[in-house]
Amino acid sequence: MAQLGGWDGYRVEGLRHEQRGDLRWLIVELVPLDGVARYCSGCGASVAAVHDRSVRRIRDLPVFEHSVELRVPRLRLACAACGPRLQRLAWLDPHCRVTRRLAESVARLCTVTSVLHAARWYGIDWKTAKAIDFRSLESRLGPVDLDGVTRIAMDEFAIQKGHRYATVVVDVARKRVLWVGRGRSRAEVRPFFERLGPERCAQLQAVAMDMNTAYDLEVRRHCPNARVIYDLFHVIAKYGREVINRVRVDAANQLRHDKPARRVVKRAHWLLLRNPANLQASERIRLAEVLDANQSLLAVHVMKEQLKALWNASTAWSWRKAWRQWHAQANESEIPALMHFAKCLRPYWRGILSRVRWPMHTGLLEGINNRIKVIKRIAYGYRDDAYFFLKIRAAFPGLG
Ligand SMILES: [Zn+2]
Repeated sequence: MAQLGGWDGYRVEGLRHEQRGDLRWLIVELVPLDGVARYCSGCGASVAAVHDRSVRRIRDLPVFEHSVELRVPRLRLACAACGPRLQRLAWLDPHCRVTRRLAESVARLCTVTSVLHAARWYGIDWKTAKAIDFRSLESRLGPVDLDGVTRIAMDEFAIQKGHRYATVVVDVARKRVLWVGRGRSRAEVRPFFERLGPERCAQLQAVAMDMNTAYDLEVRRHCPNARVIYDLFHVIAKYGREVINRVRVDAANQLRHDKPARRVVKRAHWLLLRNPANLQASERIRLAEVLDANQSLLAVHVMKEQLKALWNASTAWSWRKAWRQWHAQANESEIPALMHFAKCLRPYWRGILSRVRWPMHTGLLEGINNRIKVIKRIAYGYRDDAYFFLKIRAAFPGLG
């Protein structure tokens, strides 16, 4: 048992079983070995004198069908430099309630499941599991390397239901999270640019973001050489909400007296918003039926695909031509929602054209947005920004 346990500096004094509820426990009594060198956990110096000792209950990995609890007389050494300090142990960190190998197992489990599930699996407190995961993420990720960043993307996401937001900043080239902070106002994202510092701010060439955010003003203030680029994913999402949904609801209302036709249009919600390339054959047929039956829906659907194409223009010249054409068609459509959207989009042309010079992977922000939702489901409820933000960083550690 002692050999398997590997509790350096201790020997096994006794083993006993205990039944607690449904669980069978193995209690391992340890005693410090005499005549071994002991080191201060503060300064690492070898210290012979023991200041005091107190027995701690420490959880270790389960053995066969048993949960394992160690009884460890923890020694505080009388260090000349540090005063009374815990003895340094290779298998147990100071003030930890679990052995290092159990902590490592919990942290590994936390990479694939929630803290709560990891805690239940090992029968430990969720707060303990969270603290373990936090420390492990922190040491694994280390400080963020901000050097050599030239293109970033910024996005907001909701932290809680209601209106509490946070901002995430991503290095586009290396697909890693650089910064996460509470809020989405200019003042709230300023700490990122301050941490980046004037020199690295000047190296930024392009910043992708949603329209209608406060970010662009802050980017212009700190980053003299950066172009603001509006992200396709957000523009298309906005188009779906404001144009396609509006037209779909209007079409359904017009069909008030034709119940089957109305149902077809109402059910088309997801068909219309989804990327046609991802539809299955049967869905494509349904979509075609809906569009056939309704000219306005067909028009806004085609206009959505043409709007997307603006992000793929290869030259500024072809972009300008496509942009003008799109606006002309929007105006001729006589669909109020579309005309209004086109009018609101017009002032943002610079940020859309910039996409031609600074091609960015437009799915990046969408992917991060989706991933954050998943992390929120898993880490939600801990009300701990620092932990939540670390989990986001861990999900996008970068390409190296
Ligand atoms: Zn010391």
